[in-house]
Formats: sequence, C-alpha cells, structure tokens
Amino acid sequence: MRQINLEDITKLTKKAVIKINYNLNNSLVSLIQKAKEKETSVLSKSILSDILENQEIAKEGNIPLCQDTGVVVVLLEIGNQVSYNGNIYDAINEGVRLGYKEGYLRKSMVTHPFNRVNTKDNTPAIIHTKIIQGDKIIMKIAAKGGGSENMSKVTMLTPTEGIEGVKKLVLDTIFNAGGRPCPPLIVGIGIGGNFEKSALLAKEAIFRDLDDSSEDVIIKKLEDDLYNEINDLGVGPMGVGGDTTCLAVKINYHPMHIASLPVAINIQCHSARHTEVIL
Ligand code: SF4
Repeated sequence: MRQINLEDITKLTKKAVIKINYNLNNSLVSLIQKAKEKETSVLSKSILSDILENQEIAKEGNIPLCQDTGVVVVLLEIGNQVSYNGNIYDAINEGVRLGYKEGYLRKSMVTHPFNRVNTKDNTPAIIHTKIIQGDKIIMKIAAKGGGSENMSKVTMLTPTEGIEGVKKLVLDTIFNAGGRPCPPLIVGIGIGGNFEKSALLAKEAIFRDLDDSSEDVIIKKLEDDLYNEINDLGVGPMGVGGDTTCLAVKINYHPMHIASLPVAINIQCHSARHTEVIL
C-alpha cells in the first residue's frame, strides 16, 4: 500500500482552486480564438475578444476570471493500493477553505435552502468518489458557476423518443437558456444509467478534454450533429446572436433500464475552470 499524506491533498486542492479561478486552460483559449476568427457577427466577435482579454487580465493580475468563483466540484478517484490516516473529505474541504480565503475568491455556498446563510468559506465541496485500480489518487477539480448550473436539466425520456428526442431536448434547453448561462458553452450530456447517474455522467462529460470525441460511433455522430445544430440556433456569445453558441459537446453514456432513456444536460459557461491533480 502507498501511504498518502492528507496534508498534500489539502495543499494541492488549495493551489488548484486558486489556479483555476485565475486561468483558463490553453485549449479553451485556443477554441475561443478560433471561434472569434470564424464569427461573422461584429458584436459577437467583439464579445469573444472581450472574453479573451478578460482571461489575459485575470492571468496577469492574479485575479478571478469571473465574479462567480463557483462551487467546487471534485471527481475523486482513489486507488485501491492507497492508504491514508484521517478523513480525505475534510482534507479537500480544508484546501477549498484556504484557497478561497487566500485567493480572495467569492464564497458562494449557503448552508440551507431557505435560510440562505453563507458558509463563509465556500465549503463544502461537492465530491463524487470512485475506487480505481492502482496506487494513485486523482482529483479532477472544477469551480462551477451558478448561472450555467441553473440552466442544466435532467429529463426522463421514453426509449421510443430515441436520438431525435434527445436532440430536441438539448436544443430546446440551450435555446430557452439564451444568454443566461454565459455562452459560448461547453455542453455536457449524460445519457442512460438512471435519474442520478445521468446527472453524474453529464458532469463528468464537462471535464473531458476539449479535443476528444466519443469512441462510440453513434454517440460521436450525435456529439458532432449537436455541436452544429446548437451553433445554428444563433444564441451567440452572451446571447447577443451570432455563430458561436457552443465550443464543444461531450456525451457520456451508460447502460439503462429497458423502460428508460434518462438524459441530463449539464451546461458549462465559457469560464470553464477545471484541472486535474494526481498524487
Ligand atoms: S455562468 Fe460562468 S461566466 Fe457566467 S457568471 Fe457564472 S461563472 Fe461567470
């Protein structure tokens, strides 16, 4: 068994939440640059320029990309040959607490659905845990904005609605969301499993590399079709119209009940802040 020091988990979580809030991934910046070159609407082009300039200012000034510094979501994978003393969730939350304090990041978590009292340190993080083979711990860490999360959706379709039903649902969801989730978007879609599994599949989808595609031929075609059809909606950057409504569509799927076709759409805004930490 490999012994992991939970203090390292805290340190790396703290570093990660600060880093992702100040920097967009290079691959995302390059997609926005390409979209700007192709964009035919003058107003939309200028918004894409503003997004690019904003990320430069954030990076150079060590300041947050957005006023909404998000809820921390962690996809935690723990190797079956790893051991540690203590509570790994506490170690992650301590990293979040320190990162949001020392990075001067807005604290967005409230304790209760109705009293809305702020927890004042952006904890607790939302942590999804998986046991994997090996002696590593992998943490995929995101700061997920509330605006795009609020436009996300889980729907139980019937199997007969099929691919066309999924397409209609996704297109209606993105169109009705308009500018509220801060497009251009990364659209994570989970198909299958059951009610809660589809939501997790969609969340995992937004962590995927921007330049990858599904290995399943049918799903890859659906990703490509939806990418084009979402951009044909004309919602545009920040909802002002134009060619660039989404930058990527990622679909993850899972086996499901014969009577069900669960579909979850997790919408990620252009401020797609996430990273991967491996111990
Ligand atoms: S949806 Fe994204 S870009 Fe818009 S306010 Fe929230 S975090 Fe910021």
